[in-house]
Parts: sequence; structure tokens; C-alpha cells
Amino acid sequence: MRRKALLLTTHRDTAELEELVSALGADVAGTILQKRSPPDPVTYLGAGKLEDARATQRAIGADLVVVNAALKPGQIFALQRFFAGEEEGAVEVYDRTRLILEIFRERARSPEARLQVELAQLTYDMPLVKEAIHREKKGERQAAMFGGGDYGVEDYYNMMKKRMARIRRDLAKMRHERGVRRKHRRRGGFHLVSLAGYTNAGKSSLLRALSEKETLVEDRYFSTLSTKTARAQSDRRDILVTDTVGFIEDLPPWMVEAFHSTLEEIALADVILLVVDASDEVEEMVRRVRSSLRVLHEFDAEIAPGAAGPYRRGLAPILVALNKIDRVGTPVELEARANALVQDGLVREDMLVRVSAQTREGLDKLYGKLYDLIPDYDEFEVALPASPESEALIAWLHESADVLDLTRGNEVHLHFEAKRSLRATLLEKLAAVGATALREVKRESSLSGEPSPSAGPADAASSAASARSDGLPGAS
Ligand code: GDP
Ligand code: MG
Repeated sequence: MRRKALLLTTHRDTAELEELVSALGADVAGTILQKRSPPDPVTYLGAGKLEDARATQRAIGADLVVVNAALKPGQIFALQRFFAGEEEGAVEVYDRTRLILEIFRERARSPEARLQVELAQLTYDMPLVKEAIHREKKGERQAAMFGGGDYGVEDYYNMMKKRMARIRRDLAKMRHERGVRRKHRRRGGFHLVSLAGYTNAGKSSLLRALSEKETLVEDRYFSTLSTKTARAQSDRRDILVTDTVGFIEDLPPWMVEAFHSTLEEIALADVILLVVDASDEVEEMVRRVRSSLRVLHEFDAEIAPGAAGPYRRGLAPILVALNKIDRVGTPVELEARANALVQDGLVREDMLVRVSAQTREGLDKLYGKLYDLIPDYDEFEVALPASPESEALIAWLHESADVLDLTRGNEVHLHFEAKRSLRATLLEKLAAVGATALREVKRESSLSGEPSPSAGPADAASSAASARSDGLPGAS
């Protein structure tokens, strides 16, 4: 059964909060507006309004009270007690931060994302537990959720601190292993498109529209990443489109890591599709695009330096989907909106597509663009003589390509994929160390050009031959 939420707010703009509540799978059943500023330091709403709020909460049967602000621990305690009374858990009170945390928790799939979210949760709980300790010292009995049960509140606090230290260590370790999944994906022969954008822009709708049949991919490589991965049906190469948690305004700094980890598909993507709501106010739309791009670029800066190994390839190209064009009054109005993004120099005209997930208008163009943007890869299997020069080349390949397999013996057997744009440099470097080609497969994905050749053993021979003609001696 869907939860029913009552919103408490001191300002009229509740659009984002409503989106977040529905992202959690709850329905907004009522809103209490208190036009006082600043909010009450103890109860947020003040005593009179609070009574109104409880009457409404009972009348509509809301089991969730969501406050449109980040609250202080004392306020959370006061409100929790006021709404739930002695019946612990009957009504939950979330402030905005807690609401976002719950959404992250629900969406975190990989072990790393889960740990990031747990760490954020503990960070959020710390001041609450301190408040509980404070209250316990004053003789107030504490609810079980903060260790008022079997453990004392103070023991609980110490356990939390230990757990946080442990999580930080585990995360540091995991960061080194992060790339493994990426290899698996590309090995599967898929190209990856990740959806980004603010809540309510239409990411999930677009995902559904792009995957004509909503095929959830159950492949074991993908299942840990996101249940929201769907495979776009196409007569050309398969692309996987993955949904992500939307961007959120004013995220507390300590939640940024947890947010990024829920965005991990971005790091794996061949193309990032930034979905923008064309029916937003123009200024709002421009502001959101600007801050989305900032987040994405920060994210890139963050994954690059820490990624010891093959993943420093920079951010994937960002294609902007101006969605919900069916809700924009006239073509002139639509062009004004597109221009606002282009003129500011935010978005290149050729990186902007106008679409409607609802009417499917523009989807063919979007497909075409995606295929144009997906880079072409060549797959190589080579043998390198054991030498310092080969080691330098291997280090370079780890930086610039995807090394799929590496076997050391008398010589080094190396299986890797590299972007087509690296081809000339690559062949030169391979020739310089005296590499021999065991196999090379060209992988076409672009729309322009002939249909994709299958990457089977049959054309491996001819590809190896083409590698030879490029200056790399074959093995046979
Ligand atoms: P998300 O939060 O980015 O995943 O956004 P959703 O896909 O959940 O869409 C948010 C709301 O916008 C839903 O009510 C959708 O039905 C609506 N929506 C999405 N795309 C379109 C569109 O192209 N046209 C119209 N009119 N509504 C849309
Ligand atoms: Mg969504």
C-alpha cells in the first residue's frame, strides 16, 4: 500500500518536495502552510498550527509527515513525539534531508552505493543520537531507534562511530575495484546510455519510450547496477539505457558522495543523456541545465584522479534532450527555449534534441543522435615481447583503453578495446615495441556507414590482415 504524506511548509513552493515524495512512492494527501518567518525554533510550525496539522494528519490518515526544510535535531524529536505520541513508528516525521536519504537508500544497488548511503545515514543520525544522549541525561526515556532498547544510547553512539570508520575503509578499498563492471558491460557488446537530469524532467518516461518493449535486462553483470536498466530495441547495435536518481537542489555537502554513487552508471556511460523539462520557466530551465552540467563535470573530476587504471577517459559526451515539447505552446516558444540554452553557450545546437516521451515526437532523431555519439571501438589481441618498452605501453593502455585480459609468459598476451580515435597512435606504439597481432576486431556502431559487421571469428582474420596493412605484423 502506498504511504500517505502530509507536507508541512513555511513557503508556498512545494513542487520539488512533492516530486521527492512521489519518488519515494508515497502520495501527498495534504499540505499545511504556515506563513511565519522564521519558523518556530522548537516545533517548526508553532503550537497553534501544529494542532491543525495533527487534526489534518488524522483526518486524512497520513502515516508520513514531511517537513519542507532541514530540521534541527530538537525539532525532529519534538515533531516525532507530537505526531506519533507513545505509538512509536505509527507516524514517521521526515525532514527534507531524511526524505532524500530514503530515496537514495531505495535506489542504491551496488555494494558501494549502499555503503555510501549507509554512511550518509549515520552522518545524519549522529546529531540525533547526541540529542538523545542529552535528553536521556535529563531523565527522558529514549525510543528504541536510538539505542534506548537493549543498548544504552551512549553505547549506540560509539557503535555508530566504529561503523562509520569501517565503512570509510571499505569504500577506499572498493574505489580501486570500481572498474571491473565496466569491462563486463562492454564485453557484452552493449553500448551504455545513462540518463541524468532533475527530478520530474521525464527520465523514467523517456527510458520507457526508448525501450519499445520494457525489457529489463537480467544479465548477471547488469543486475547489480540498476533494476531500471532497459535495452533499447533497435535493428542496429544494442544500447542499454539506465535510469538514475535525479539531481536534487541544495544537497547537504556530506550527502554528495552518496548521491554520486547512485549516479555510478554515469561513469560507465558511452553517452550521457541529460533530460530537461522544456515546460519549466525559461530561467529555471537554464539554471537547472547549468547546475546539471556543473555536477556532471565535478563528477568527472572526481572519478578521474582517483581511478588508478583504465578509466581516465574523461566524461562521455552529454546530449541534451529537451523533453515535454508537447507541453510547450507554440513552435516559436519552443525555439525561444532552445535558444536560451544555446545562446548562453551552455549547449551546442547539435547536442540538443527536442523530444516528447509522451507523444514520442523526436524519438527517431534522438536514436540517430545517440548512435552518432557512441564511439567506435576496436578490439585487439596482441602479443608483446617482454621488455621495459612493452611495460610502458601496457601502462599507457591501462590509462587509455579497456584492458580485458592480460597473460604474462615468455611474452605478454594482451586483449583490449580502444576507441577508434586512438587507432593511429595505437598502431604506431604497438609497432614500436615489436607487437604481433593475434586478432583484431573492428566494431562499428555509427549510423553513417554500412551495417555493423559481426564481431565473430570469421572477420577476425581479415581484421588482423588490415592491422598488418596498417603496419603491425601478424602472428601467422
Ligand atoms: P523523472 O523524475 O525524471 O523520472 O520523471 P518522470 O519520467 O517520472 O516524469 C515526471 C512527470 O512528467 C510524469 O508525470 C510524466 O508523465 C510527465 N512527463 C514525462 N515526459 C513527458 C512528456 O514528454 N510530455 C508530458 N506532457 N509529460 C511528460
Ligand atoms: Mg524517475
